[in-house]
Amino acid sequence: MDKIRMNPIAELDGDEMTRILWKQIKEIVLEPFVDLNTEYYDLSLVHRDETDDQVTLEAARAIKRLKVGVKCATITPNAGRMTEYNLKKMYKSPNGTLRAYLDGTVFRTPIIARGLKPYIPGWTSPITVARHAYGDVYKAVELATKGQGKAEIVFTAPDGSQTRETIFDFQTDGIIQGMHNRVDSIESFARSCCSFALSVKQNLWFSAKDTISKTYDETFRAVFQRIFDNEYKAAFEKAGITYFYTLIDDAVARAVKSHGGFVWAMKNYDGDVLSDMISAAFGSLAMMSSVLVSPDGCFEYEAAHGTVTRHYYRYLKGEKTSTNPMATLFAWTGALNKRGEMDGNKPLCDFAKRLEKAALSTIEEGLMTGDLAQLYEGDARIVDSETFLKAIADKLK
Ligand code: NAP
Ligand code: MG
Repeated sequence: MDKIRMNPIAELDGDEMTRILWKQIKEIVLEPFVDLNTEYYDLSLVHRDETDDQVTLEAARAIKRLKVGVKCATITPNAGRMTEYNLKKMYKSPNGTLRAYLDGTVFRTPIIARGLKPYIPGWTSPITVARHAYGDVYKAVELATKGQGKAEIVFTAPDGSQTRETIFDFQTDGIIQGMHNRVDSIESFARSCCSFALSVKQNLWFSAKDTISKTYDETFRAVFQRIFDNEYKAAFEKAGITYFYTLIDDAVARAVKSHGGFVWAMKNYDGDVLSDMISAAFGSLAMMSSVLVSPDGCFEYEAAHGTVTRHYYRYLKGEKTSTNPMATLFAWTGALNKRGEMDGNKPLCDFAKRLEKAALSTIEEGLMTGDLAQLYEGDARIVDSETFLKAIADKLK
């Protein structure tokens, strides 16, 4: 059989158990079928340390140039990792670096297999959470105040003129928080969400609290609506999908009663909280895929979970672990499919879809990794990661 050919994508390797899965996925289900063409960047913590983290920046540039990247989970160093890896310094999160460089929005979508029951049984289609990953409380300044005093917001223009608002006249001890967002960032967010909804042909929701926050959240609502009306309305009509704004509390109630199958755009804090609720409700972090979409149309695919450290330490002791490769596998199929779409490479798109189908039907027939067994409605046969991948490859052949 001739292997499928492709244009290059950026490949970002990572750490620990997911690095092991990465190699197995390539060897078992990709390389036998596709003439894999990647620009390889080793983002393992050891290599980030050797290159003073320059490799992360080079990888970000490669994604910008090639438009498509696929990333393995990586360690974000903390004090413990400093000693474990004898690091020169405490490097920033690679995902933070990539996100800042690509100015992207992160979309998280659960992978749904028949037989795996979500905790909300009505959710038969995936709900994708799009989280605005800039500003708000994550870039806020805060003060704890003592005793009597007046708290104000002051804006000083370059000519020295000032606009001020009283926050509160304190008679007792208190706390104050000042947060911001940028209109250009909200515009990018709205564009990424609209493009993503079009690419998956699903309705787009956006929710905030503009009835209470009449300037801050109202700006979010208005900017989103303006970008949609001016730039996407016609394309949405053509694709047969809709854009819908509602209050966040109304959206939460509607979501629970829905069947899923939509993209839900949220402000930073709402997205932080609700994406964890939604991934837990769909069953497993190991079945959650993630893609960073930049407003200029770059796509970086990855799993939503981390490097699965606890399994890695068992692997190092010689154990064959039953770590779920699905989210990492779907990062690869997402990237290959997107490469195919951009280049009109139909065989590549078809392969990505067949691989996803083979992986899902393997689970649906009862063969899976340990984390899924408790969600499965029948008798599950639990296998190690390698056996699971080989079963998928057999189906593909
Ligand atoms: P984690 O790697 O997501 O794992 C947490 C736990 O979730 C695991 O111990 C495992 O539970 C379960 N799990 C996650 N993925 C699984 C899979 N594919 N198959 C089976 N079980 C899975 O989170 P963490 O332990 O908090 O973080 C480990 C490292 O990952 C940290 O160094 C962190 O910095 C990094 N991280 C990276 C990213 C990223 O690159 N995107 C994201 C998050 C964290 P059991 O042990 O109970 O089986
Ligand atoms: Mg969170």
